[in-house]
Amino acid sequence: MKSLYFTPGPSQLYFTAEEHIKTALKEQIPSISHRSATFQSIFQHAVENLRTLVNLPDNFHILFTASATEIWERLIQNCVDNSSLHLVNGAFSQRFYDMAKMLNINADEIRIDPGHCVTGDDIKVEGHHELIAFTHNETSTGVSQPLEDIYSVREKHPDALIAVDVVSSIPYVNLDFDKIDSAYFSVQKCFGLPAGLGVWFVNDRCLAKAEERLAKGQVIGSYHSLPSLVKQSKKNQTPETPNVLNIYLLRKVAEDMNTKGLDMIRRETEYKSAVLYNTLENHPDFDLFVKEQSWRSKTVIVAETNLTSQRVIENLQNKKLLVGSGYGNFKDQHIRIANFPTHSKEQVEMLADTLETLTD
Ligand SMILES: *Cc1c(COP(=O)(O)O)cnc(C)c1O
Repeated sequence: MKSLYFTPGPSQLYFTAEEHIKTALKEQIPSISHRSATFQSIFQHAVENLRTLVNLPDNFHILFTASATEIWERLIQNCVDNSSLHLVNGAFSQRFYDMAKMLNINADEIRIDPGHCVTGDDIKVEGHHELIAFTHNETSTGVSQPLEDIYSVREKHPDALIAVDVVSSIPYVNLDFDKIDSAYFSVQKCFGLPAGLGVWFVNDRCLAKAEERLAKGQVIGSYHSLPSLVKQSKKNQTPETPNVLNIYLLRKVAEDMNTKGLDMIRRETEYKSAVLYNTLENHPDFDLFVKEQSWRSKTVIVAETNLTSQRVIENLQNKKLLVGSGYGNFKDQHIRIANFPTHSKEQVEMLADTLETLTD
């Protein structure tokens, strides 16, 4: 019997992925030229399917990178002359902030306790920040920043570019792209694909800023700058030899998600998260880490345990159910459970039943 991965990335492959990988091998997709018409067609359909899935407006470009981590660097290089502001409430938002400092700009942070979010009015933006960075879903702690707070910052600071990390919440998250300037993700989380592909949504405001920086002679990235990525994407290509297989798989999985319907995926996600939260909340050995209900992630469920996480993980592992440990300092106290589109209601109910009968 195979294991079932509820780990928050990499995770269980999307349930159609294996079939698509087999077809890709049969069609020799990994051997085709990234300058060929076949590749251009794959690229074009991947972009179209994604655009349909998340309802992305025409003033946004869809670009492919190596990872979400790469996009952090590209955002700073392309969109910031002097200063960025980072809402930091966990390990991933922290890494983006650290990276901005490494790139020698004036990066500022608003630090929030793990498991907490700020509300719009608490977000005091002082000085001139050209980019404000939010993490919609902190995969490290299972906390999810309400979108209204992000939008309210945009309203108060219309000149700043707003970038939103949706790595572990898209396509569940329902973004209003008129109220942000960039969003990005990696495919090994909710899309259930092998790691090694980042997807970057950017609007024309971000592109204009990058072109302005380029014209001033600033360094905006070597092989991947925003203008170079956009220029190539207009030809349905990338500057370098990209992860062709993964772009092919993304095209297929985005199509499958469109066929299933995002409404259905969202409803299922909500049902499954309620099952998991209820089970953990009522279990004597677990407490939910995020106390405020409206901040609880629907896609990454995190619980504190008075057993050690290792005991829980081993116990579940014996039943071929794999969940994540806590992240960083929380390694031993937390378990993290991915609730991604590939995880079926039946699989989640099985995990919940197993958790219920778990004893010390
Ligand atoms: C996983 C993750 C990342 C990093 O993704 P990579 O593919 O490793 O670059 C960034 N942000 C969040 C919220 C994540 O969960």
